[in-house]
Amino acid sequence: MSAEKTSKPNEPEEQEALEESRDTATEMGSAPPVVEAHDEMTPFEAATYFFHLAADRLGLRDEMRSVLASTYREMAVQVPVKMDDGFIKVHRGYRIQHNGARGPYKGGVRFHPSADLDEVRALAALMTWKNALVDVPFGGAKGGVQCDPRKLSEGELERLTRRFTSMIGYIIGVQRDIPAPDMGTNAQTMAWMMDAYGQKYGYTPGIVTGKPVELGGSPGREEATGRGVVICAREIAKKRNMQFRDASVVIQGFGNVGYWAARLASEAGAKVVAVSDVTSGIYNKEGLDIQDLHSFTADAETVGDHEDGDKVSNDDLLEIECDILIPAAIEGVITSDNADKVRTQLVVEAANGPITPVADKILAENGVMVVPDILANAGGVTVSYFEWVQNIQEFRWEIDNVNFELKKRMTKATEAVFSRSEHDETSLRDAGFDIAVERVARAAELRGYV
Ligand code: GLU
Repeated sequence: MSAEKTSKPNEPEEQEALEESRDTATEMGSAPPVVEAHDEMTPFEAATYFFHLAADRLGLRDEMRSVLASTYREMAVQVPVKMDDGFIKVHRGYRIQHNGARGPYKGGVRFHPSADLDEVRALAALMTWKNALVDVPFGGAKGGVQCDPRKLSEGELERLTRRFTSMIGYIIGVQRDIPAPDMGTNAQTMAWMMDAYGQKYGYTPGIVTGKPVELGGSPGREEATGRGVVICAREIAKKRNMQFRDASVVIQGFGNVGYWAARLASEAGAKVVAVSDVTSGIYNKEGLDIQDLHSFTADAETVGDHEDGDKVSNDDLLEIECDILIPAAIEGVITSDNADKVRTQLVVEAANGPITPVADKILAENGVMVVPDILANAGGVTVSYFEWVQNIQEFRWEIDNVNFELKKRMTKATEAVFSRSEHDETSLRDAGFDIAVERVARAAELRGYV
């Protein structure tokens, strides 16, 4: 049975690890000072900046502001991995829990060279707001291991995942903190995490979401983030009296989120004119065959090498004229350097934090509407919630039910954000943060956090 039923540590070493991480949390995760938006903001400063704007608008009292601006618990671990050549390489790993007022901490685990403390903090905070906005009963967390998964063999990746899981095993749990995939991780990573956790605590499928369907994963989870992006984009297009069908769409990123967003947008009748991966992109103003590109990338070095269009750089791709621009790769790609060159009327943030605060202002001044990440990419965690529910109830849903419930939640959240932004005459990002911060503050208040 899982040790998490009571949410209490059941071994002395576990207790010790918890105490230790609690002790260090206040100094490590304290809120950065309120600052004006500037070009050199770190990811956590940027995420906190948007929070502070909401706190100002909502008139949040100071005690509540400090609780919600800082992280609750941060675990930084050493992840030594025996490499295939026999040498041990030590990686840095993190699991950061931002706020748990609304339920167990929830958020992905990223394997990426830039996954440092600051980035993981920012992503953990965004999870808190995202989960509140789509109203799933979770707090926010994120994990990361600083590594380049493309340079690791399958065996190295498995050993790294297992070691990381056993290191953070003390602070995760079905009712405590539930990891999921993010950049550089996938269903296989979750299978290893579930197995490593199970070896210590017993069979616990609900410890992670985004698992393979054969191990208790949810049908529809893999494509859920991309599907949510498209649902959201279509809803917003409708509100703006813009035709989604035949709209030209540019997507940066051709990983899980970018690929599914491209595929589902095409299936819904939009014309996807450009996509890119880390190396380069492809542009064809007549539209691209997404399935063909996807098969091509299985062997090719980069999607830009496909002959059905012009090869473009990732920077140039962001400046292609289109109806909808979807950054679906990494954070900080639209900055003060290129925000003025974006030629679209609608940006949908499929990635977390792709627009810096300064760029966000420039886009607003130029009349470009931005659908914020905490709304646009919330489809993934929404279906993670369905997966967790299925695991707890030991009852499997049909794919139609998953997609139906996803559409219902995404549409409701989009509707709420859009009407709030119209009513308060704010941007969609401000409206989204206002709704989310209000919900988390209310839960924190009721629980007596401050
Ligand atoms: N990593 C995804 C995100 O950033 C999904 C998190 C989850 O399913 O817990 O939203």
